[in-house]
Amino acid sequence: MPKPNATLLIQNASELVSVASQGKALSGKNAGNVGIIQDGAIAIAGEKIIAVGTKAQVLKQVDATDAEIIDASGKTVLPGFVDCHTHLIFAGSREDEVELKSKGVPYLDILKAGGGILKTVRQTRAATQSQLVENAKKTLRTMLEHGTTTVEAKSGYGLDTKTEMKILDAATAAAKQSSTEVVNTFLGAHAVPQELTSEAYAKTVTDDMIPQARTRAEYCDVFCEKDVFSIDQSRRILLAGKKIGLKPRIHADQLHGTGGAELAAELNAVCADHLIHASQNGMKKMAERGTVAVLLPATGLSSLLPYADARAFIEAGVPVALGTDFNPNCWCESMPFTIALACRYLKMTPSEAVAAATINAAASLDRADRVGSLEVGKQADVVILDAPNHKFLAYQFGVNHIQTVVKKGKIVVRQEQREKG
Ligand SMILES: [Zn+2]
Repeated sequence: MPKPNATLLIQNASELVSVASQGKALSGKNAGNVGIIQDGAIAIAGEKIIAVGTKAQVLKQVDATDAEIIDASGKTVLPGFVDCHTHLIFAGSREDEVELKSKGVPYLDILKAGGGILKTVRQTRAATQSQLVENAKKTLRTMLEHGTTTVEAKSGYGLDTKTEMKILDAATAAAKQSSTEVVNTFLGAHAVPQELTSEAYAKTVTDDMIPQARTRAEYCDVFCEKDVFSIDQSRRILLAGKKIGLKPRIHADQLHGTGGAELAAELNAVCADHLIHASQNGMKKMAERGTVAVLLPATGLSSLLPYADARAFIEAGVPVALGTDFNPNCWCESMPFTIALACRYLKMTPSEAVAAATINAAASLDRADRVGSLEVGKQADVVILDAPNHKFLAYQFGVNHIQTVVKKGKIVVRQEQREKG
């Protein structure tokens, strides 16, 4: 039988991290079992991976005569990162709040002075859809240059029906004009607008927004938090979404333990996010259901808040994923930086953090069968780091290690080779 023809061959990698898991999230004892291959190679045909292994193994399986060849000597090859928690679409910025936060000004005082989320809501309501699309394209490009090939994007800075739909449409339009795959999440229940009570607004979300979000989003999310949306309101909102096919995910137990982790398990949500104050019982229920814990260490850094107990989730058998939580209060587009934070503040190992940023994040978006690992038959989303092994992601921070990014078999980022010496 003739060997299949490769269109792209990456070879001589000092380390190829396959994160091979047969389409499943990695958890418990396997949380850091990322399938490292030395002298690694990967062959791609069109949009798909056709061989992965050592260079000798791959060259035995494919015909690379007509392939573009990338020499990855001294470099690390990984799956493209999946950023599974972002608030991609908003207008304006809030850089003035950095100084206030370092001075210890409470968030409520920032809000009262017209800052915080209410400022972003005002600016996002005032922006045109095309302004939002242009902002998002720039962000997606920066993310791609840092190795992120799949991004989840939440609405939530409109807090009225018209603006929430404008935000979801902007995310869809930005995705069409970029190389990154964007997964839309409707998060109308992100905060309570000044003009309504939480009960009145929850009704607007379920009766007015969710029916219109049905064709615009894949997921429905809610900010389940003391004095924002109660467990009852959150359940009602997520069930209303579920009824029309929007899959639930949830901002849970971020500032207070309110039973958000338990609610995620009860509703069979694909994931629960933040989880700083999740209870032991909540963790146990998430482990039973296979609910992914999406942890967001850049939020802790940016808002000077405590960090989630990743070790407890891993020990309980809950799959842990990482996201940037990119938003106007946490302007972080970089998954490598998020990995570096996770290896310090969340006490994750570099290999656990790599799995969390790839296959487990893909699982939290129901895409673990297609992206998040380098396995035959999967979509060819690949990054090459200018570093000899994956531990550099945790070790060398504040710089961009990414040299090449391949999305669906096409080279979409190709950085200049850095001069040595
Ligand atoms: Zn969030």
